Amino acid sequence: MNAPYIGRFAPTPSGPLHFGSLVAALGSALEARRHGGAWRVRIEDIDAPRIVPGMADAILATLERHGFEWDGEVMWQSRRADAHAAALARLKAGGHIFPCACTRREMADSALARDGSRRYPGACRDGLPPGRAPRTWRVRAEGLIRFDDAIQGPQEENLARDVGDYVVSRADGLVAYQLAVVVDDAAQGITHVVRGADLLGSTARQIHLQRLLGLPVPAYAHLPVAANAMGEKLSKQTLARAIDSFPPARALAWALAFLGQHPPDALAGASLAQVWAWARAHWCIERVPRRLQCPAPGPAA
Ligand code: GLU
Repeated sequence: MNAPYIGRFAPTPSGPLHFGSLVAALGSALEARRHGGAWRVRIEDIDAPRIVPGMADAILATLERHGFEWDGEVMWQSRRADAHAAALARLKAGGHIFPCACTRREMADSALARDGSRRYPGACRDGLPPGRAPRTWRVRAEGLIRFDDAIQGPQEENLARDVGDYVVSRADGLVAYQLAVVVDDAAQGITHVVRGADLLGSTARQIHLQRLLGLPVPAYAHLPVAANAMGEKLSKQTLARAIDSFPPARALAWALAFLGQHPPDALAGASLAQVWAWARAHWCIERVPRRLQCPAPGPAA
């Protein structure tokens, strides 16, 4: 028997679903179905300063309108504070994290930053300077992390050199994305993460945290990110058009083309059910372009 496959889509409700997020939803859902697996949805709504009220429900409604069917209940990251706190406590108990008093300004002024590096200079690694209060908690970044991305190929990151000690508990008291995502992926039993290549650079940190916490390490696949004509990632900041402004069947066919699936011209006027039927029958992750970024189809950008 094949090992179970559980995939997921984990949007942050900071804006309406745009073409780039539709691509991530579609790629992750089709890959899960191809393996006869489950596909779950998690709303990553803990970063209060970025969340737009009502947007989570709007995203779920947009997914439904495009014919997505997820398995089980939606997980709301904002309701997972206890699990996130427990993981932080385990990292503390294991001596893997340390309190840090550095402000952004201090780090920007440090020698390392003047080198053009954004790595943490290590000022509090061996203890807080006298009289300073902790602002954040950082993980000691150690080791070489290797993984084989199903689309982008073999990856390697030297955490100490390339990233430095990274934040897991933020100055505003919120748990950092890197920690929340690994705790919640494990809680949802996720075996395969298929998402945009804008998160490729986060994966080594997530694998590092999974190892420190003794959590299973899922397989990863990073899809090319959709960019506008200026080569900027589609996002709320680049004013990407909401996907709801297009007919759903048309938008799905564009997303399939973007993902290298070559839908036939006949799908241009097809119904949503026909596009899904074609997609389920023909989806092949090997055809997804091995690129970090690709231009979005004109209208969608
Ligand atoms: N919530 C993240 C985002 O919307 C995605 C997290 C993930 O897929 O790991 O960019």
